Amino acid sequence: MDPYPKPLRDLISQLKHLPGIGEKTATRLALFILADRNNLSETLAFSLKTVRENISLCPQCFNLTDKPRCSICQNPSRDASIICVVEEPSDVLALESAHAYRGLYHVLHGLISPLNGIGPEDIKLPELIDRLKNSPVSEVIVATNPSVEGEGTFHYIMKMVQDAGIDVRISRIASGIPMGGELKYMDQVTLASALRYRRGAKDL
Ligand SMILES: [Zn+2]
Repeated sequence: MDPYPKPLRDLISQLKHLPGIGEKTATRLALFILADRNNLSETLAFSLKTVRENISLCPQCFNLTDKPRCSICQNPSRDASIICVVEEPSDVLALESAHAYRGLYHVLHGLISPLNGIGPEDIKLPELIDRLKNSPVSEVIVATNPSVEGEGTFHYIMKMVQDAGIDVRISRIASGIPMGGELKYMDQVTLASALRYRRGAKDL
């Protein structure tokens, strides 16, 4: 017999839908929320509702925003001539935390994956082409992950841009040996990639 009352069991079941949360963690979280005396359940419920109601996609770059346009697109000090293409909003956050990029973004919300039935029309690729046609962009940096889907999406972007006759430089983020990494511990794919994307000494 289930030792937990139904409302608690329902909360555990809902928490289990979250990525990386199994039965044990869901139970621990549910019991913590229940035992908390600082209105956590109320503020959590309010935040969950607010995030659904107030967060939408920026109509230009498809990043998450609670304004008509996201804070990056709105920022006049960003370089609008460069667009960095990423898979998900969390990639924008990761790149922003590196403080090394001052251009704009384009969030695809997925990658082309024929095996999973995801084609170019299912992600924000047509919107990228429209954007490139309608704004003066000099470079597109494709920062999708170095996976089969990430590489495939990069090649598809190159083809779409070429087919549309858009004059823009397309580059790919480098992949290879991470800072602090050691050659002897790298896998073959990483080593091959590091060699393929090597840089000349004068570029360093
Ligand atoms: Zn935006």
